[in-house]
Amino acid sequence: MGGPKVSVDVPDGEIARVVIGDDVFEVNDAVLVKAPGVRERYVGRIVSVTVDKGAVKARICWYYRPQEAAGGRKRFHGVKELFASDHFDWVSVNTLDAKCEVHALKDYVKLDAVTEYDFYSRFMYKSSEGKFKPEKVPVFCACAEPYNPDRFMVHCEKCHDWFHPQCVGETHASVSKVKEWTCSMCRAGKSPMM
Ligand SMILES: [Zn+2]
Ligand SMILES: [Zn+2]
Repeated sequence: MGGPKVSVDVPDGEIARVVIGDDVFEVNDAVLVKAPGVRERYVGRIVSVTVDKGAVKARICWYYRPQEAAGGRKRFHGVKELFASDHFDWVSVNTLDAKCEVHALKDYVKLDAVTEYDFYSRFMYKSSEGKFKPEKVPVFCACAEPYNPDRFMVHCEKCHDWFHPQCVGETHASVSKVKEWTCSMCRAGKSPMM
């Protein structure tokens, strides 16, 4: 493998961090991992770093992209969504490309700017069983889907549900014109059971 040489001047065993070029990778860091023939780098978290006969290896707990997990990518999955998983591998630290951040969804939505190094995770994916935790999350709108931070939603001042404008026959522009928007159910006096 090419890439920068990782200098190791320590005896075999666990180490807390490894320096590669200008980057310091530490246990618990989220990282982008290069893989041959894969355009999109993998995302994982460093669980441990070990020196084994001079070679430095990192144990990685992988994050899955929705299209890599059972069921595939759904409409409610955001482009920066990842699933924490129970899938671990040892990789050479030469494959560690850059550090990144995997936020909780509630923190991700508060970011002023989302860079290529920002992701979020709200589900834990048990890769061996193809199952997710939690199994149920709150749903919104007439479509009854979980929140997708990439899709604009409008808040109903009466029932306090959130709606995608296009799910209730409106547009981003039409709901933005209204100061205190209410959904068609509330306007018809039939507030949905909350
Ligand atoms: Zn909807
Ligand atoms: Zn309403």
